[in-house]
Amino acid sequence: MNNIFNYDLIDLENILINNNYKKYNAKQIMSWIYDKKIYDFYKMTNISKELINYLNQNFNLFNIKLQKTEKSKDTNKYLFKLKDGHFIESVLMKHDYGNSVCISSQVGCNMGCAFCESGRLKKQRDLLPYEMVEQIILIQNSIKKRIDSVVIMGIGEPFDNYDNVMKFIKIINNPHLLAIGARHITVSTCGLVPMIEKFSNENLQVNLAVSLHAPNNEIRNKIMKINKVYDINKLISALKKYISKTNRRVTIEYILLDKINDSEKCAIELANLLKGMNVYVNLIPYNETSHLNYKKTKKVQSDRFYDILKKNKINVTIRKEFGSEITAACGQLRASEVEK
Ligand code: SAH
Repeated sequence: MNNIFNYDLIDLENILINNNYKKYNAKQIMSWIYDKKIYDFYKMTNISKELINYLNQNFNLFNIKLQKTEKSKDTNKYLFKLKDGHFIESVLMKHDYGNSVCISSQVGCNMGCAFCESGRLKKQRDLLPYEMVEQIILIQNSIKKRIDSVVIMGIGEPFDNYDNVMKFIKIINNPHLLAIGARHITVSTCGLVPMIEKFSNENLQVNLAVSLHAPNNEIRNKIMKINKVYDINKLISALKKYISKTNRRVTIEYILLDKINDSEKCAIELANLLKGMNVYVNLIPYNETSHLNYKKTKKVQSDRFYDILKKNKINVTIRKEFGSEITAACGQLRASEVEK
């Protein structure tokens, strides 16, 4: 049985045509599912009995289950159980300008960033497109509100699951399906250089964010294993190529870690590294977790860091903190479930 959320409109059209049904049936079926939120083929009243039987024999709908929700004022955290028993998590952030969902792209992660909770538990497998699509639909249905934007910044490295993530993006972006505008979709990578190049050829208006977290190789090697494969020079030159090819601004993510990467010297070095590039730096307050020893930078120090970047004409913001009163650090909820 195939999960219907694995398919873009054109895929379903082709399947139906190959099985002697009409191309337009695909739009009807997708409209029942995505617009009318009808998840039972028998209730699709404008479709022939024969096609309904065919759909029932060949497709199913929800294969992931919402297991647990943690709520706070501006953030909800969701734990999902996959068909094979694995757990993944997603976060809903309620901004003034709309609802944003942060989804996972893998079960666990192999990138092994030293400060990250997700990486403590190794990757079990990649997520399939439907498992990413269903995270969004289940959250949307549970809050009964539209999801306006999606960030692929949960557990996993999206560029280590490239094809499934691209398929997922096409499905949620399709105006007949979830209709989330490309500019409202962000994919975040720890810096898999060849995939950044590949991504620049996709001709998508999707945002790219890069977890830089250090201004030089010495620091980055200590906290991000990936830097030993693709170092800062390779990463920055890949980003320059990406920017000149796509004409799109890149978000640089920089977690401020106390006494690791938050000195004034680091700020100056970062400003020099990014000088002249069409980037925007997002300074991220670290979400401390009990298993790891990293500490969050104090407010005065992060303000100082911010000011130095500003003074050097780098576009910069300090990210609003979400959900620190619940287990909102990446991977915390899943880790607590798996380790029970
Ligand atoms: N693998 C991708 C996407 C998932 S991680 C990437 O590396 O970008 C999403 C972001 O959360 C990354 O910038 C990551 O470094 C950051 N992150 C991980 N643990 C964190 C924590 N405890 N507090 C704040 N940010 C964290």
